[in-house]
Amino acid sequence: MFPISFCIQLSFLILLLINDSQQTLDPAEPRIAIIGAGISGTSAAYFLSKTPGLNPKIDVYSKDPVGGRMATINIQGYDFETGGSILHPRNRYMKQFAEQFGFKQKKGISGKFGLYDGSGFVYSEGDWNVLNVASLLWRYGFSLVKVNTLIGDMLNQFERIYNVQDDGYAFSNVVDLLSAMDPSFNLMLERTLEEGLKQVGISSLFIDELANAIMRVNYGQSTDAHQFVGSVSLAGAETGLWSLRGGNKKIPHALLNASRANFHDEEVEAIHLNTDGRFSLRFKENDEMPSYDAVILATPITNDTSSFGFENFPRQFHFPGRYHQTICTMVQGEVNHKTFGFADASSVIDDIFTINRTLFFNSLARNYPVDMDDGEGDAPPVWKVFSNEPLTKEELNILFSSINETYTIHWKAYPEYDGTISSGNFTLHPGLYHINTLEFAASAMEMGVIGARNVAMLAASHLGVDIQDRKAQSFHIEL
Ligand SMILES: Cc1cc2nc3c(=O)[nH]c(=O)nc-3n(C[C@H](O)[C@H](O)[C@H](O)COP(=O)(O)OP(=O)(O)OC[C@H]3O[C@@H](n4cnc5c(N)ncnc54)[C@H](O)[C@@H]3O)c2cc1C
Repeated sequence: MFPISFCIQLSFLILLLINDSQQTLDPAEPRIAIIGAGISGTSAAYFLSKTPGLNPKIDVYSKDPVGGRMATINIQGYDFETGGSILHPRNRYMKQFAEQFGFKQKKGISGKFGLYDGSGFVYSEGDWNVLNVASLLWRYGFSLVKVNTLIGDMLNQFERIYNVQDDGYAFSNVVDLLSAMDPSFNLMLERTLEEGLKQVGISSLFIDELANAIMRVNYGQSTDAHQFVGSVSLAGAETGLWSLRGGNKKIPHALLNASRANFHDEEVEAIHLNTDGRFSLRFKENDEMPSYDAVILATPITNDTSSFGFENFPRQFHFPGRYHQTICTMVQGEVNHKTFGFADASSVIDDIFTINRTLFFNSLARNYPVDMDDGEGDAPPVWKVFSNEPLTKEELNILFSSINETYTIHWKAYPEYDGTISSGNFTLHPGLYHINTLEFAASAMEMGVIGARNVAMLAASHLGVDIQDRKAQSFHIEL
């Protein structure tokens, strides 16, 4: 896992791409299947459709509605995000998609937050921003400033991927893709967030409280997760976060439409390698077996998330790792202010993050409908609870003094970042690609798009397009 020099990797990669493309014919209108219609699958369809010289016929298959883990639920006539909800201001692709499709940002995501340890708040924001900053600094001191700088530096390095992709470089595995951002990123996969922060002198108090709370709300896990995902998570606690007015899933819908791909509401059971090097798909409820020049898997594939069959391939594929169960409980009701020591219901803060690993919930946050800015309008109070196990009636009664409606969504949400690293191969076989292997570095909507663009370039190269030809990159101008 030690990174070698970036230049060596790039020349190796170019050779690899040339070899891969030489093995295949150059069909005039290649047929491409994409399995999964979340942000990864739909953005892959979009990038492929915008690749000059490719002219593909794309079929997108999904067993669930378009958007996948970007989903909403309707409560009393209002839609609320239940899956991927928060975007970072430096998520360039998501931002550009939103602008390109004329979508508006929803404002005011962060309210007052507090860190709850099961018996009381170790830190809680008040009405005055200046005092909030001062008391955070008082509690975490130098560590707060240092982490802020570290995350800023990491984001600068992370952003290199956009130029690398604009220049037509694609990578057959995750290690090479991360090295293109910064060679040190791969080392971050090998140590925990706690180890990484301690190495640079961050205090135990910061790690146990703030870093732990942010990991619990963003990934349902702790600072034992690896440092790369931990840093992505810490970046997700910065200011300027946004979501899409009307719901984030508008983006995958718009990408699918813009790609002109055919959408099929179908579960794929198996991928068969034909003797001519093409692929056939077998479905759960349909006897047809269409064949394709390339297939892109845009869904998690671990034993606990998927049961794809891979038939007739020269080698067996292994997909180690598990996905973390996150239970999202949406409650229309009133928080039990006594549990948290507030004077009354109106004093309850918007975001209660937890720092105690043994607590039965990870976070409790006020949610606002997707089609209005936070705090605007008179929608009924809706709260989102994240937990690792379904909440019992008793647990709900601890958190809420009154409940009108409850909805529970069981997510296989993101990988378990417990040190199991997947093979990290985007290329499973020439012409067969897997986007979601990138989730083992970090699962996020923007990561899905970065993985999708990488895989779209690998597939285009396999199908005979010179992806480093400036003309072949014109789709980025449209972004
Ligand atoms: C509760 C929660 C909160 C999150 N919060 C954030 C956040 O705030 N910010 C952020 O950036 N990210 C967040 N994420 C992560 C983000 O939502 C995901 O990384 C991203 O949406 C994954 O998109 P995807 O397209 O790769 O996969 P998915 O959205 O899972 O799409 C895969 C699709 O493949 C389909 N599929 C699977 N198997 C088959 C088959 N055999 N045949 C046909 N179709 C199949 C499924 O139906 C599914 O729709 C969150 C996720 C969850 C669950």
